[in-house]
Amino acid sequence: MTDNQYMTLNNGVKMPLVGFGTWTLRGEQGKQVVLEALAAGYRLIDTAHMYGNEDIVGQAVAESGIPREEIFITTKLCGTRAGYKLACQGIEESLDRLQTDYIDLLLIHEPYAEAAEMYCALTEAYRSGKVRAIGISNFNAREYLAFIENCDIIPMVNQVECHVYYRRKELQKTLETHGTKMQAWSPFTEGQKPIFHEPILQALGKEYSKTSAQIALQYLVQQGIAVIPKSSHRKRMEENLNIFDTTLTAEDIAQIHQLETGKTLFGWYDD
Ligand code: NDP
Repeated sequence: MTDNQYMTLNNGVKMPLVGFGTWTLRGEQGKQVVLEALAAGYRLIDTAHMYGNEDIVGQAVAESGIPREEIFITTKLCGTRAGYKLACQGIEESLDRLQTDYIDLLLIHEPYAEAAEMYCALTEAYRSGKVRAIGISNFNAREYLAFIENCDIIPMVNQVECHVYYRRKELQKTLETHGTKMQAWSPFTEGQKPIFHEPILQALGKEYSKTSAQIALQYLVQQGIAVIPKSSHRKRMEENLNIFDTTLTAEDIAQIHQLETGKTLFGWYDD
């Protein structure tokens, strides 16, 4: 991967702009898909305690033969590990399941009532070298601003729902003001919207010899948002990674912005 395929977090750690999502991947078949993604060139794998698949991600990384330091592993602590002691225990469990000495990015999966306590555990793990970067997920601007009031270390990443229909420009602005990068989950809306047949994306795709999927990812990446699309198909995995040879113009971006609805598709965290 070349330098332009990474973003730099507030502690200097470099994170691939395009990673691989693993929600729904399970068992031997799931492991094969992660192996395929690594073979296709992905160097960021996004998992979570909640997905029940940290073990297959750990196995795939080990079996891939790719040096551990070339792969960026993100995982997340969920509600069953809410609280300081539980979070400390959860971090050890994740390290174990992932068969690794360190996690590249560890997130608190949702804005739990105990998030501040959990973050103390993350901060300790970060300071002791068990984690290279720490952050949060699914925090809206209000929750984020309240959270950072008591943080020693500003979260490096906030992973949130973000796609062409819900771009979250204001949230990104708030995050960047304080040093947190935005990472988009479900950048294809998990297939809920006809994103792959969206006329605006198709027309731009034709102009740049790209697919709608590639234009949808390019739109986010070019605006400083990291993405973690998931696909079980090798051709699509490659397609989703192959976006770094195109630059959309300001007019193209404005055109795509017409798709904005200002609303979550998943009913969780409206701004
Ligand atoms: P995505 O938005 O990535 O969409 C995945 C769907 O798009 C699949 O049906 C896939 O089909 C299809 N697809 C992928 N690429 C293409 C392509 N090039 N052309 C046509 N279809 C395509 O959904 P996810 O919900 O999986 O989101 C991505 C990741 O984000 C998750 O896997 C997870 O890691 C993370 N996430 C985090 C959350 C959080 O709370 N922090 C919440 C939700 C997700 P196929 O597989 O058949 O190719």
